[in-house]
Amino acid sequence: MAGNCAIMRPSIQQYGEGQLANRGANPAILRLAVPVPLRRLFDYLPPEGADPAALAPGQRLWVPFGGRKLVAVLVDIVAESPLAELKPALELIDRQPLFDGAGRDFLQWAADYYQAPAGELYAAALPVALRKGKPADHWAEQWLQLTTEGKGLPETALARAPKQQALLQLLLQKGPNSRTQLKALKHSLPVIRALADRGLVEWVAGPTVPPPLPDAEPTPPPALNDEQRQVLEAIDAERFSVSLLEGTTGSGKTEVYLRLMERVLAMGRQALLLVPEIGLTPQTLRRIAARFPERSIAALHSGLADGERAQAWLAAAAGQADIVIGTRSAIFTPLPRLGAVIVDEEHDGSFKQQDGVRYSARDLAAVLGRNAGVPVLLGTATPSLESLHNALSGRYRHLRLRNRAGDARPPEISVVPTLGQQLDEGFAPQSLRHIGETLQRGEQVLVFINRRGYAPALACDDCGWLADCPHCSSKLTMHRRQRHLRCHHCDYRRPLVNSCPQCHSRALSALGGGTERSEELLAQRFADYPVIRVDRDTTASKRALDRLLAPARDGEPCLLLGTQMLAKGHHLPRVTLVVIQDADGGLFSADFRAPERTGQLLEQVAGRAGRGDLAGRVLVQSRYPEHPLLQLLLEKGYGAFARQLLRDRTVAQLPPLRAMALVRAECEEPRWAEEFLQTARAQMEALAPPSPELAYLGPVPALLERKSGRFRFYVQVTAEKRGVLLPLLARLCQWAEGNRNRRLRWAVDMDAQELS
Ligand code: ADP
Ligand code: ZN
Ligand code: ZN
Repeated sequence: MAGNCAIMRPSIQQYGEGQLANRGANPAILRLAVPVPLRRLFDYLPPEGADPAALAPGQRLWVPFGGRKLVAVLVDIVAESPLAELKPALELIDRQPLFDGAGRDFLQWAADYYQAPAGELYAAALPVALRKGKPADHWAEQWLQLTTEGKGLPETALARAPKQQALLQLLLQKGPNSRTQLKALKHSLPVIRALADRGLVEWVAGPTVPPPLPDAEPTPPPALNDEQRQVLEAIDAERFSVSLLEGTTGSGKTEVYLRLMERVLAMGRQALLLVPEIGLTPQTLRRIAARFPERSIAALHSGLADGERAQAWLAAAAGQADIVIGTRSAIFTPLPRLGAVIVDEEHDGSFKQQDGVRYSARDLAAVLGRNAGVPVLLGTATPSLESLHNALSGRYRHLRLRNRAGDARPPEISVVPTLGQQLDEGFAPQSLRHIGETLQRGEQVLVFINRRGYAPALACDDCGWLADCPHCSSKLTMHRRQRHLRCHHCDYRRPLVNSCPQCHSRALSALGGGTERSEELLAQRFADYPVIRVDRDTTASKRALDRLLAPARDGEPCLLLGTQMLAKGHHLPRVTLVVIQDADGGLFSADFRAPERTGQLLEQVAGRAGRGDLAGRVLVQSRYPEHPLLQLLLEKGYGAFARQLLRDRTVAQLPPLRAMALVRAECEEPRWAEEFLQTARAQMEALAPPSPELAYLGPVPALLERKSGRFRFYVQVTAEKRGVLLPLLARLCQWAEGNRNRRLRWAVDMDAQELS
């Protein structure tokens, strides 16, 4: 046996710091979350020679496990273990717990709901440096505080030494200040030393301070408009509620977030803001830093070095950071003074983790808020059907901003039919004419294309050969600049060929269009203007994106073209024309969520037009201008479109009207994956047979049937009530953990978002 396996998930009520003292003569047994893919906790003895009084739940320890040394988190201290032989843990890492009781309860809840191993969830919650066992003390800060004598002085005591008096005042008014803060406020070391020599101040070790954000000029807030005021009045900062804030792009949602933050900060609480991966730009950070120049802000994003990230996380967990901004995994940061949870662009797919522990940070936000008794605000111009359903059925409060803030007006949207038109690399003549006119007026154009690369396929005109990925059921995308063919699913690459590998003909055609190909045409057609391509190939980092967009922010006429990266977050007031090259793809997909995503994307892209004082215009190219969903979207907007989709989902008995989970399996040998899932389904059916309230489907092949050499299948389980699914899935996991086939991978995907 690899480790000391203690059974079961402990009930949450068992936890608590106070237990150690009451335990009497029994030796302490440590119940630990170990980062291995097993859904249980593990019992260990304390490290040899450890002081029992130094142990508390929430600390990390090094433990031996199957010949390896792993970083585990102490979840509970108990008096007895069902196991006779226990190994001791190796070493205690933390003096102070990293996770408080609320943080641990939350992780346990998530582990139970998503059928995730608690150890993997704790690992996901920790920043990499801490996950690897680096001591938190490494980032401890020095804090300057007043001595008893210093505290007794009046603020004007040092009138003859103005610099010393200013520092004394700061410490009297604000309490201890970190070395970093003092430096930022330009209090010099000689001044500090002078006060220390008089015995008025002293340095003490204290919590970490987050690394600094990009510089920003402090900016005062605008006066709220009536709608914004009503929205804010509807949110009670003192208690739990979930509100969906549905407001078009530019309607002032971010302003509402800032005001809610301001309110909870004034109550001495912390605010957590979750943003999509693409939304955590230096621009966003600057806006928040500019509003709260005096507050300590921790930003948890992928652009940080490991050390900086750990520092920001520790500052948040110690209650030191007032505002925590982060992407998906920031939801697991323990926040001892949590006052509000805000999720921006709540519909965004990046809040759902698609591998490992498959959680939804958006859904967990509601649980976190409930546990802490604080408001949760989900904001978006294009609500997910899940949130919209919750709002319409009264589970969430439905708040709306119907008008654009400031002076901006909504854009004018029209369809450009493309069927039977002479297209130039996918652009209708009408679209090209509008682009030219807009640039000539000195304004900016944004062209949206949902595919990167040059062309999505390369084919031989003579024998019909197509460049396939040898590992996936998909075609290779042609990247002309990099001179290779690449698979966008597994990243397989091969050099570009000049002749057909099958018949040696040189008549090869690039089929379809991508960003690279459109860039080529537009750069040639509109040679007098800069053409800025924004996709994953040109923006390796957030900073690269920020740099790339700098000319556009300066306001010069230019042409921006790119993928959905351009759809979000960027405030570009000089863009007056948006061209959507192809609206059709998502309307005809096998994934029932595709129309929802397409609608969101189109609305978000269209929202980029006319954000400043200039009126905006949107051209949507489509082969099927009469498609009823497209018509609804363009004429009535996303709100009406989404409500229609909800009615369709009701008829089809699909989420969000039903709860849905997938059991996934993939294997190089397709038969094994299918057999595994057949047994899985039988296991679940034995526990709960199909009924009007519970339906099974599959095993069926995933939409992308083969990926990276493995065949992929799933069983879909839908139920009227979520509660029905949980015990079924728990039982299934228990059985599947015993699966001995090392080449087969399986996963449970609760509230699955992708059928791919
Ligand atoms: P959203 O987050 O809904 O896209 P923002 O909060 O970014 O909207 O607001 C869009 C623009 O309008 C921003 O430039 C913002 O500064 C401005 N704005 C927001 N609220 C007001 C207001 N009450 N008065 C004037 N301008 C405002
Ligand atoms: Zn050929
Ligand atoms: Zn591939």
